[in-house]
Amino acid sequence: MSSAAGPVWDVAIIGAGPSGSLSSLILARLGLSVLLLDQSEFPRRKVCGGCLNGNSMAALKSCGLAELPARLGAQPVKRVRMMYGGQSAELSLQENWSLSRFCFDWALIQEAQAAGVTFAPSHRATMGDIKGSCRQVELHSRSGPSTIAARIVIIAHGLKQGTIAKNSRLGAGTILAQVPQPLRDEGLLMVIGRGGYVGGVRVEKGQYDLAAALDVDFLKRHGTIANAVQDLFRQAGFAEIADVAAADWRGTPLLTRQPQQIAGERWFAVGDATGYVEPFTGEGMAWAMNGALALAPIVERSVVQWQPQAIREWKHVHQRTIVRQQWPCRLLAQVLRWPWLSRGLVGGLRMFPGLARPVLRHLSRSSANPQRVKL
Ligand SMILES: Cc1cc2nc3c(=O)[nH]c(=O)nc-3n(C[C@H](O)[C@H](O)[C@H](O)COP(=O)(O)OP(=O)(O)OC[C@H]3O[C@@H](n4cnc5c(N)ncnc54)[C@H](O)[C@@H]3O)c2cc1C
Repeated sequence: MSSAAGPVWDVAIIGAGPSGSLSSLILARLGLSVLLLDQSEFPRRKVCGGCLNGNSMAALKSCGLAELPARLGAQPVKRVRMMYGGQSAELSLQENWSLSRFCFDWALIQEAQAAGVTFAPSHRATMGDIKGSCRQVELHSRSGPSTIAARIVIIAHGLKQGTIAKNSRLGAGTILAQVPQPLRDEGLLMVIGRGGYVGGVRVEKGQYDLAAALDVDFLKRHGTIANAVQDLFRQAGFAEIADVAAADWRGTPLLTRQPQQIAGERWFAVGDATGYVEPFTGEGMAWAMNGALALAPIVERSVVQWQPQAIREWKHVHQRTIVRQQWPCRLLAQVLRWPWLSRGLVGGLRMFPGLARPVLRHLSRSSANPQRVKL
C-alpha cells in the first residue's frame, strides 16, 4: 500500500461487501489502480438472508461471474413460503440462489484480486480531506494509523450513517450447521409475526441461514435474539427449535437509514451506504452490485478529470437504476408492521399467488445497464 507521500491510487474503496468488491473488480478491469479496504479479517460472517435474486444474478453475469454462486455450492431457491399466524402462502421464484455471505463475499474479493485489486483487510478507513487533486483516506490497522491518497473514494461501508427511520428494526442472523428438523424442505421460509419477521434458507454445505428483522421493543421484551426469534416461530405454529436457542446470533445496528448525501467532491457512495431498504427475496445485494455497475463509468471519467457535475449525475443514475426499483420493498416493509395487513396479505396471496408475480418480476429485473461498462 502506498502512503500519502507515495504514488496515488486511482480509486480507494472503503468496505468490501458486494458493492465495494464488485466496484473494485469492475474498475480494475477498466485499467484503474484500486485499493479495497475493509475493517474485518476475511472470510467474515455478515448478517444476511444470503438470497441472490435474478437481478443479483444478472449483475454477476455481466461481470462474467454467472457461474460463481453454483461453483461455491449455492442452492437454487424455487419457492418462498410466507407464514403469518396459522396461515401460509407459497410463491414461485425464478433464478434465485442462496449462499452464505461468509462464502460469497470472500469469493468476490478473490475475483477482484485476480483482476488486479489490492485488498487490505483489517484496515478501518475514514474519508479525509481534499489535498490537491486527491482525497485523503485515514487508515487504522494493527500497525497503527496511516494516510493514503486517491483520486476518487468510494464509500461502500454498508449500514453506518444517515438519518434513522422512527420505527426502524434491528437485524439479526446466524448460520446453523444443518437445517433444523421442523424447517426441512421449506425452500425459502419467511415467518412474519408481531414484533418482526425471520427468514430461513438452506445454503452451501447443508448449512441453514437464519436472518431476522426485529422491533426494538420486541427484542427488549424477550431479552435475547434467540428468544425473540423463537417467539416468531411459535406465533407461526412451530414447536421450540433447539438449534435456534443454541445458535451464535449476531445483531446489526438499526436498519432503516437515509444518508444526507450519496456523493460529494471526489467521492461517491454505493450499496447500503446510499440508504437501506428492508429486502425480502434477495434485493439488498442486487441493489449493491447493480449500484457498482451503474457507478463505474462515472468513476472512470472522474479519475481522468474531476467534474462537479459527476455528483448530480450519480444522484440521477442512482435514482433511476436503484431507488426506482425499491418501492415494493418499502411498501411491504410498512405492510408487515401491521398485523391485520400482514394477515390480509398472506391470506390474499394464499388464494391468489399470481398477484405477487408482477412484483417479484419487477424486483428481479436487471436494474443497471451493463452495456455502459466496457468489461
Ligand atoms: C436481516 C437481513 C437480511 C438480509 N437478507 C438479504 C438477502 O437475503 N438477500 C440480499 O440480497 N440482501 C439481504 N440483506 C441486505 C444485504 O445484506 C445488504 O443490502 C448488502 O450486504 C449491502 O452490501 P454492501 O456492500 O453495500 O454493504 P455490506 O455488505 O454491509 O459491506 C460493508 C463492508 O464495509 C466494511 N466496513 C464498514 N465500515 C468500515 C470502515 N470504516 N472501514 C473499512 N471497512 C468498513 C464492513 O466490514 C463490511 O464488510 C439482508 C440484510 C439484513 C440486515
